[in-house]
Amino acid sequence: MMKDRGILIVVSGFSGSGKGTIMKELVKRYPDNYALSVSATTRNPREGEVDGREYFFRTKEEFEKMIAKDELIEYAKYVENYYGTPKEYVEKHLAEGKDVILEIEIQGALKVKKAFPDTLLLFVTPPDTKELKRRLVGRGTETMEVIESRMERAAEESQGMHQYDYLVINDRLDECVEEMHSIIRCEHRKCMRNLEFMEKIQKELKGEK
Ligand code: ADP
Ligand code: 5GP
Repeated sequence: MMKDRGILIVVSGFSGSGKGTIMKELVKRYPDNYALSVSATTRNPREGEVDGREYFFRTKEEFEKMIAKDELIEYAKYVENYYGTPKEYVEKHLAEGKDVILEIEIQGALKVKKAFPDTLLLFVTPPDTKELKRRLVGRGTETMEVIESRMERAAEESQGMHQYDYLVINDRLDECVEEMHSIIRCEHRKCMRNLEFMEKIQKELKGEK
C-alpha cells in the first residue's frame, strides 16, 4: 500500500515551555514518523547550536533575499529577529509520507493554517507560570533582560492559545511526548483525512453486492 502524504503539524508554545526538548525526544523515539523542519533565523546561535541543525543562521540581508525569492512558507519577527520556514524541506518530506513538524511562534502558525487549512496546530504550555520562569532561568541561555521580554511575549501569546487544535501540558516530559504522539496518530484516522480510502471501500462494496 502506498504511504499517505504526511500531516503538516505546527507546534507553538511559550519560550521555555519545553517545545524543543519534546520535539527532539519525539523524533528520537519515532524516527520513521516525523521530520523536523529547520527554520532560518537572524538571531545569533546559542552555545552548542550548529548551522543547519537547530537553525540556518543568516544575516538580515540574506534573510531578506530569501523573502524576496519566495523561498519561505511563512516568516515572522520575534523579539527583534526574523524567523522563517524554508519551503523545500517541508514539501519533500510531506510527499514522502512523513509528518513534518514546524516549531514556530503564533503569528507564523496562523499564517501556515491560513495557507494550508489541514495543518494540525498544537500548543505546548508548562503547568504554571512559575515553572515557565524556572525553566527559562534554568536553561541559562538568555540574560535576565531577554527572559523578561520572553515572559512578556508569553503573556501576549497566551491570548491566542484558543486558536489551536490541542493543548499539550508539558509537566512530565515522558508522558507529554507520548501524549503528543497519540494526538497525532488519532489525527491520521480522522474521516476527513481518509477520503480516498473511504471512496475505495464504497466502490468495492458496490461491486461486491
Ligand atoms: P523551548 O524550546 O520551548 O523554548 P526548551 O526545550 O529549550 O524550551 O526547554 C526549556 C528548559 O526547560 C530546558 O532547560 C529543558 O531542559 C527544560 N525542560 C523541558 N521540559 C521539561 C519538563 N517536562 N520538566 C522539567 N524541565 C523541562
Ligand atoms: P528561539 O530563539 O527560542 O529559538 O525561538 C524563538 C521563537 O521563534 C520560538 O517561539 C520559535 O518557535 C519561533 N520560531 C522558530 N522558527 C520559526 C519560524 O520558522 N517561523 C516562525 N514564525 N517562528 C519560528
